[in-house]
Amino acid sequence: MLHPEIESLDREAMKALQARKLAALGERLAASPAWREHFAQAGMHPRDLAAPDGLAHAPTLEKADLRARYPFPLLTVEPARVARFFATSGTTGLPVLFGFTADDLRLLTRQVARQVYCCGVRPGDRVYQGFGYGLWMGGPAHERAIEAVGATCFPVGPGRSELVIEWLRDLAWNVATVSPLFLAHLVRAARERGIDPKKDWRLRTAVVGGQAVSRAFRDQLEGEFPAGFTVRNNYGTTESGGPNLGATCPHSHERDEMHLINEDTVLTEVLDPKTLQPVAPGEIGEIVVTTLDKEASPVVRWRTRDLTRLGERPYDCACGRRGMPTIGRIIGRSDDMLKVRGVLVFPSQIEDVIAGTPGTVKDAWQIYVDTVDGAPNSMTVAIECERTQEGARPDLAAAVARGLAGRLGLKVPVECHPHGTLPRYEAKAQRVLLKERRP
Ligand SMILES: [Zn+2]
Repeated sequence: MLHPEIESLDREAMKALQARKLAALGERLAASPAWREHFAQAGMHPRDLAAPDGLAHAPTLEKADLRARYPFPLLTVEPARVARFFATSGTTGLPVLFGFTADDLRLLTRQVARQVYCCGVRPGDRVYQGFGYGLWMGGPAHERAIEAVGATCFPVGPGRSELVIEWLRDLAWNVATVSPLFLAHLVRAARERGIDPKKDWRLRTAVVGGQAVSRAFRDQLEGEFPAGFTVRNNYGTTESGGPNLGATCPHSHERDEMHLINEDTVLTEVLDPKTLQPVAPGEIGEIVVTTLDKEASPVVRWRTRDLTRLGERPYDCACGRRGMPTIGRIIGRSDDMLKVRGVLVFPSQIEDVIAGTPGTVKDAWQIYVDTVDGAPNSMTVAIECERTQEGARPDLAAAVARGLAGRLGLKVPVECHPHGTLPRYEAKAQRVLLKERRP
């Protein structure tokens, strides 16, 4: 543990710490007219966060609340005190800006350093930092964290794969912080150039984030590297103040889970998306976050729309982090959850089937959904075949269709496209594309 004084707190001590910080947060928000107005919608005042059930009754925060306060939504400090702005990836509409004071940047460094340490990054490691820079915080946050734990950072960012596959060999990088799809791309690019990641690279750990991938995808990726190599998840959102929510310890990695590892600074609820009541262990819920320490652009009960399963025994991990519950991987977004002919479908289920079918390209696939009056009516899955499988396209499509029928209980048409024809995504992949059909 990088911060044993916090990471080894038990659940009661953690909740007491959160309660003290919630009261202080309420005081800070009470000074902001925009926050007072937001709480007033629920008949509350920010100071009500000090009450034992204050947070559970507080209004949730949605994208529309932020968009309505363009361009600096709920900034809460003077703009001149902001050292840096980051933004959401903005797949629809303008990006939403989030401010960070100098203290917020120090907080971010501490949060992400704890995560990468939990994921196995150690002083002296040589880290290929492959997350993006610019307005997106993935790159800058990891760069600070890598330096803070005493490892050596090579801030290449995404892209430049020709260079990266050579340097992975020549500079003997042993850790990569990177999107899982880009790592898969690097493996392919290396093989095409006669470089064998199993023999020629020294990677021991990849800390991946930025998008949800299936267990099958992870297992396949781990199989491309020498024995002992692990792909560790690191999860967060811009609204929570960075890639600062989830991280995998060696024990939770075995169960395909991660810890909510910054519970002392970002309080996380896992709630039923319909009733907003906490889910029981083992159940699926939406991650809802409250930033406890952030000065600029704090959030209270931000609905991430990310769905996960709370661990079966969330407070009982053998690593000793008993105040920080475990959750499963992100299984999709509540926005992406589809109900097709009465059957609930998550894109991650479809990804599992594609990743488990040899000959398909794991990171190039789409779901096309026909809607009638805005409601999903039918869907088609588009996949790509590996370059060497060009002749087997109809067979691949049939194999995936069989897999989907078994997994979803739905007959889904599958189209298999030539290699390189479907879109690739560097950050968050948009797998579900809606198409309105006029009846
Ligand atoms: Zn653990």
